[in-house]
Amino acid sequence: MYEIAVIGAGPAGASAALFAAKAGKKTLLIDNDQGMTRRGWYENYYGIAEIGGPELVETGHKQAMKFGAELVAEQAVNLVPSGASFMIESESGITYEAKHVILATGVLTDLAAKAGVETKDGSEPRIKTVVAVNTEGKTNVPGIWAAGTVAGVSVHAIITAGDGAKVAINVISELNGARYVDHDVLKS
Ligand SMILES: Cc1cc2nc3c(=O)[nH]c(=O)nc-3n(C[C@H](O)[C@H](O)[C@H](O)COP(=O)(O)OP(=O)(O)OC[C@H]3O[C@@H](n4cnc5c(N)ncnc54)[C@H](O)[C@@H]3O)c2cc1C
Repeated sequence: MYEIAVIGAGPAGASAALFAAKAGKKTLLIDNDQGMTRRGWYENYYGIAEIGGPELVETGHKQAMKFGAELVAEQAVNLVPSGASFMIESESGITYEAKHVILATGVLTDLAAKAGVETKDGSEPRIKTVVAVNTEGKTNVPGIWAAGTVAGVSVHAIITAGDGAKVAINVISELNGARYVDHDVLKS
């Protein structure tokens, strides 16, 4: 069983998976490569002068996998509670089990709605519906969290990536029973 499964590997989901895996959590990252990030050209991502969407996405995936996140090219079609965990059913028929699930599905809320997760009208341009979350990223279903565009944050790559990191830190902290920080010191 995975401790954390992230559905969607755009900036929000891959950033969440990177933090989760780097914290030593058994992490699954499921993505069907239909996101918006690949289509952009980025000159407002702090620390990176300019980068194309495909490179931003692929670098993010590599960073998450470097720390052990398992990336699978799959469409999640159902998310079903099963005792204290969740079963994630994929289009190919494989089922994945996870204790916590972070939805990072971009503009799509269909999976969330099927799982009984509360949605609401979006406030950002062209974002019709989002998942209702509290400040930590928790939805109304305990164990299901949401981050990035699907959670209603401003539709900018650095903000969705930061939101994914924030939510992952909250999940990690809950699993650890103490606030978690991930600080590396400059190598000499
Ligand atoms: C043309 C364009 C230009 C842009 N330019 C800029 C810019 O210059 N600067 C800027 O800051 N932002 C820009 N943006 C916005 C930026 O790309 C987004 O804010 C941000 O990248 C969204 O990240 P996300 O992770 O929330 O969503 P996404 O990147 O959309 O990721 C969601 C992921 O979830 C996956 N997914 C969804 N449902 C499922 C499912 N059921 N099973 C498996 N996988 C699933 C999708 O395939 C996708 O990979 C631009 C967007 C577009 C479209």
